[in-house]
Amino acid sequence: MRRPLITRILGCIVLCWSAALAWAQPYPSKPVKILVPFVAGGTSDIVARAVSQKLNEAGYTTVVENKPGANGSIAGEALAKSPNDGYTLLFTHIAQATLHSFFRKLPYDIEKDFEYLGMVSENPMNLIARPTLAANHFSELVQWLQANNGKVTIGNAGPGSASHLCGMMLQSALKINLIPVPYKGTAPAMTDLMGGQIDLMCDQTTTTIAQVEAKKVKSYAVTTPARLSHPALKDMPTLQELGLKDFYVSIWQGLYAPAGTPAAVLARLNQALKAAVKDPEFIRRQENGGATVFTDTRVEPSAHKAFVRAEAAKWAPIIKASGVYAD
Ligand code: ASP
Repeated sequence: MRRPLITRILGCIVLCWSAALAWAQPYPSKPVKILVPFVAGGTSDIVARAVSQKLNEAGYTTVVENKPGANGSIAGEALAKSPNDGYTLLFTHIAQATLHSFFRKLPYDIEKDFEYLGMVSENPMNLIARPTLAANHFSELVQWLQANNGKVTIGNAGPGSASHLCGMMLQSALKINLIPVPYKGTAPAMTDLMGGQIDLMCDQTTTTIAQVEAKKVKSYAVTTPARLSHPALKDMPTLQELGLKDFYVSIWQGLYAPAGTPAAVLARLNQALKAAVKDPEFIRRQENGGATVFTDTRVEPSAHKAFVRAEAAKWAPIIKASGVYAD
């Protein structure tokens, strides 16, 4: 049934009025939600909260919301379906480039559904084990892994996460089978590792350093091509030095908005992110966790997008060859 002309005119006036009001509102005029696809206490959460704090110091009111599940895709899908007004953002790591290769059908498109706002840091990784594991060196660990092939457990944050990619590469480099134990983030996996419920994990130095220093976990190697300069890990060999040719896993973090977010809002967010990554206190906190804050063009949206595209192309064949899928 057609509504009378006057009702339609009034409806139109109300719509135009609210659109004009929204347009007139300065951005940001209300809290901005930052979704994180893993539980609190993991690297993604820690770095996201550090970014959030810097944005808040710059006049934003941001709130981090941990939205774990389905290997991080729940948060990605939530962002893709959020209003594109700059009030919902996503902070995530390498999973942005790897998840679609694991999923038979990922419910969003990493190219079309997101605006890229810039990258923040690179976080190297560290191979660690429960404190009760007898092996003190990597060679002893390898012997033990070979003797217990197919029986050793390794925690991770689900397929597509950095911890999973690292474990997957370790298996194939050593030609052994490990039992992956997925968690909704590596924070609960770390608790289980320290308690001896699982045997191994590969996690970012952001969260391993404190536990290595407190001797709550054993550390065997780092996953970067060069040794790290952090005092707690500077004597740790790299997996490449230990004979695992080309072994390199390290993760990077970035910020995203839903596709179609107004250009002026994206520009403001990018400026705020760039100021955050230049902040000395932010840099110091990240370096204390063994991370390197990006100072190159990757803090710009176009370089960020190109980098993710290259990472997706690099990981796709490795993931396909692993035969691991998520539904
Ligand atoms: N550290 C996790 C990973 O390895 C994710 C997290 O819990 O932040 O992917």
